[in-house]
Amino acid sequence: MSAAEDYRHQITSISYRNKAFINGKYVDAASGKTFDCISPIDGRVLTKVAACDKEDVDRAVKAGRAAFESGKWSNIAPRKRKKILQKFAALVEQHKDELALLETLDMGKPISESLNSDMGGVVNCMEWFAESVDKIYDELAPRRPDSVSMITREPLGIVAAVVPWNFPLMMAAWKYSPALAAGNAVILKPAEQSPLTALRIAELASEAGIPDGIFQVVPGFGETAGQALGMHMDVDMVAFTGSTEVGKYFLKYSGESNMKHISLECGGKSPNIIFADVHDLDYAAKEAAAGVFYNSGQVCTAATRLLIQQDVRDAFLEKVAKYSEAWAPGDPLDPKTLMGSMVDESQMSRVMSYIDVGQKEGAKVAVGGKQALSETGGFYVQPTVFEAVNNNMRIAQEEIFGPVLSTITFKDEAEAVEIANNSIYGLQANLWTRDVKKAHNVARALRAGTVNVNATDGGDITAPFGGYKQSGIGRDKSLHAFDKYTQLKHTYIHLR
Ligand code: NAD
Repeated sequence: MSAAEDYRHQITSISYRNKAFINGKYVDAASGKTFDCISPIDGRVLTKVAACDKEDVDRAVKAGRAAFESGKWSNIAPRKRKKILQKFAALVEQHKDELALLETLDMGKPISESLNSDMGGVVNCMEWFAESVDKIYDELAPRRPDSVSMITREPLGIVAAVVPWNFPLMMAAWKYSPALAAGNAVILKPAEQSPLTALRIAELASEAGIPDGIFQVVPGFGETAGQALGMHMDVDMVAFTGSTEVGKYFLKYSGESNMKHISLECGGKSPNIIFADVHDLDYAAKEAAAGVFYNSGQVCTAATRLLIQQDVRDAFLEKVAKYSEAWAPGDPLDPKTLMGSMVDESQMSRVMSYIDVGQKEGAKVAVGGKQALSETGGFYVQPTVFEAVNNNMRIAQEEIFGPVLSTITFKDEAEAVEIANNSIYGLQANLWTRDVKKAHNVARALRAGTVNVNATDGGDITAPFGGYKQSGIGRDKSLHAFDKYTQLKHTYIHLR
């Protein structure tokens, strides 16, 4: 039996958690409503999931508030909280094969990616923040000897994590790991396209010893469950990852409700700048293809704008075209597949419409440009490379969120920086050169939260991640993440 057949066999006995997880129990939505959870691999309905709405969110917030105020999580010894979170991480690791399969079925990414990259990253993130719980100290301000001026970090209370579908469990882990470590109660709302892994780990959280009400999951749509969390008067913070458009709604919800804290990880249109003096043109071309086609281009940091210095344009484009072929979509359940499906039919249609827009704008399709594997019933798009793109075209300015690369030519350093920064986004930028001085100068001039030199993904849990401009507000990952899940209290004691 091939590995893909083996996975198909495992699917026949899989049991899906499809109800909301509120106050330690799986429950139906109060309305009894459900929505179809469709696999983009073949368009099949996997299960029906509880469609939570305001009433369910109210129930979860009530349980979360009671659990938070009881102190059974926020006020326990840090060492104890650490042990429970370590156990939670260990349980997720034990179930990583099952979770990876759920992730692949639910959103169509290749199984080897779900298993190694996503689940590996999730477990590492959970372990890292669990380990940090009893390593962070508070501060004493320098004051007169007859006074004590303490600056302490306190949890906010109820943190709602509203996350997207492109890395369903990883984006959730980046939020619930530091939020729980800081002592908050978390209500997780997975994207409606990919709720299965979030629902499965809820019971693992319970099994690890996280008290009822401290980790809850409310699946449902953005306009219902998401909005109810954003507008709730008793939610203290929303940690959001998703589109810039919806990120702005959360700022509005906050202003219209209780001024809850909002952190936003939003969209991107990352430039990947290839200077003619790049050390290894071939390697840079291979990485340029990987940087845009990984996860079918459904990556906020995807290097979708390829800026090539004119002297090496033809040679570089030829190599990029060659490496792009390797990303032809395949069966997500085959461990050898590099690129799987799009998350759903509407995302596939959106990408195809941008391919059409690019051609109408005058850009030329050099590679791909078509839908693929339609006989499977799933939603696949060929890796697509546009040449002759102008940075003002929509395909260079708007986030497509698919396997579509726009290539643009530049003359010199100044023009490269000008084009790179000409975007409403500022999540990540990459540049390739062998000149250290140029690397420093350009990195400094780029308006982005992350700059990679001679790489397209230097991210790690140890480094903060987030956006400049309309790519977001606040940072995930690293100890800086605690800034958003805690508030500072100043306590002054007069000793006279
Ligand atoms: P989305 O904004 O459509 O949805 C994200 C979440 O918000 C989902 O849970 C959704 O249900 C909810 N939502 C949607 N409409 C809502 C509304 N009106 N009110 C309240 N909640 C609502 O994004 P998506 O399509 O799921 O994901 C793709 C986007 O996510 C891309 O723009 C991508 O760049 C971004 N993203 C950013 C990062 C980052 O760290 N910067 C990481 C991954 C994805």
